[in-house]
Amino acid sequence: MKPAPFAYRRPGSLPEALAALAGEPNAKVLAGGQSLVPLLSMRLAAPTLLVDINAVPGLDTIEVVEGGSTGRDPGVTVGALARHTDVLAHEDARRVQPLLGMALSHVAHATIRNRGTTVGSIVHADAAAEMPVVLKLLGGHVEAEGPAGRRRIAAHDLYLGPLESSLHHDEIAVSAFFPALAPRAGVAFDEIARRHGDYALCGVAALVRLVDEPGSGTVAEARAGYLSVAEVPSVVDLTAELAGGVTDAALAAAGERALAALDPADDIHATAAYRAQLVRVLTSRVLRSAFDHAVARSS
Ligand code: FAD
Repeated sequence: MKPAPFAYRRPGSLPEALAALAGEPNAKVLAGGQSLVPLLSMRLAAPTLLVDINAVPGLDTIEVVEGGSTGRDPGVTVGALARHTDVLAHEDARRVQPLLGMALSHVAHATIRNRGTTVGSIVHADAAAEMPVVLKLLGGHVEAEGPAGRRRIAAHDLYLGPLESSLHHDEIAVSAFFPALAPRAGVAFDEIARRHGDYALCGVAALVRLVDEPGSGTVAEARAGYLSVAEVPSVVDLTAELAGGVTDAALAAAGERALAALDPADDIHATAAYRAQLVRVLTSRVLRSAFDHAVARSS
């Protein structure tokens, strides 16, 4: 199919882009086009105006702040035009927050990662995408610019429903901030897809932090984020299940706890029962890996 007719503008500055959006309630931002263009072609979206932000300068940066180096929060700030590939190739970003590299290698295929943006994926709010879950699990945020100025939207408040974010139609997400991995913490990611690069049938990201005592393997915090098993990117707190020790029984209990919180559904790709089993298996596997990562970083 061909898209419905639309107007196209390619502003050369952020204020011009915001003005273009403000003047047309049915306008859409175009970043990498890797989600929007297929939706246009299938006529699942029919905006009257595309505001292409690819000529806006200064949005393609990736900034890394190391722990303790400045007064700023340590972490990785990814600009709206940084492609998945740029983030994946950024050694400092991967070192400061290793979950970025772990998850991004599962996002689509290389050709799509070369064009698709990480911020675009985050605001597109697809519950089957990796980066919204990563941002939410880490407690990150998005910086949005709009007619009323700049505002910060915590990932926790970003996801309202399937493909629906709390970003206003006349706002542009200029960056996303991923907090650095804390000392004595570990992360892990795994997913099951029919083929590598396909959207996952189920994916899990985990964060485990050990108590602040040298040599201790006691868990102070354990959380897991889930893709493709709920209507929105979802994070479940599993600290209670692991606080008494990371045993097979505790990991299995964490899987059951996550399943009760998520309630996966059937669709054309997998049955609810199969997804439930993936939640159990991946929760246990990924939490164990995140715990091992935390132990290795602490020794
Ligand atoms: P666009 O397509 O340009 O925009 C997507 C939406 O976000 C639009 O509504 C647009 O208006 C809005 N938007 C984008 N940027 C901004 C901004 N800065 N401010 C405000 N609104 C904005 N993704 C995965 O996560 N995992 C996968 O496994 C995966 N597989 C894929 C397989 C295929 C075959 C394809 C075509 C895509 C796949 N993707 C996958 C999607 C890919 O990751 C996209 O890059 C991403 O979803 C959107 O980024 P984009 O820059 O292309 O956004």
